[in-house]
Amino acid sequence: MTPGAALAAECARYTAMGWMRGTSGNLSVVLSRDPLRLAVTISGKDKGELGPADVVEIDAEGRTDDPVRVPSAEAGLHGRIAAVTGAGAVVHVHALAPVVAAEHWPGGVELRDLEMLKGFGRAAHDDVVVIPVVPNSQDMKVLGDAFEEGHRADVPALIVARHGVYVWGDDLHHARHRLECLEWLLRFKVETRRDR
Ligand SMILES: [Zn+2]
Repeated sequence: MTPGAALAAECARYTAMGWMRGTSGNLSVVLSRDPLRLAVTISGKDKGELGPADVVEIDAEGRTDDPVRVPSAEAGLHGRIAAVTGAGAVVHVHALAPVVAAEHWPGGVELRDLEMLKGFGRAAHDDVVVIPVVPNSQDMKVLGDAFEEGHRADVPALIVARHGVYVWGDDLHHARHRLECLEWLLRFKVETRRDR
């Protein structure tokens, strides 16, 4: 399967989950590591209807030399995350639970003692996982700096407040499994909070 076909198939799954509403969200896969090149979904299209050609090749800063296709505005953050973490795939969706969680815990969302943490690559017991939260910005350099400042190698996710969530992994499946588990964890966290 080409990178474009793989990205389109994953976008269709995320759309079915309600996590890529309108034209929101974007996914990327690393094509080469040195120099870093990624394939990222194009801007402005319904993510449930992408074809294999709806993909743009970008460099680490999110720039492309494609004369026609425009990469997502958030492509620069994909490049930064892939460069810093060594991930093979980065997924960004506008799921609701991460954004609501960040509203309650703007300093970071703490998770512990939950079986689903195993699907996120952590332990179900005796382990505390804090998902970092950064303020939203339209400047990918600002977002990238904030990401790098709070990044820990054992937490493959970033919540952008009032916006959405980024998750990464070795490949698109690995990233999706982590995101599916994280979304469940954050929904649990929000729905069981005691401050209401
Ligand atoms: Zn977004």
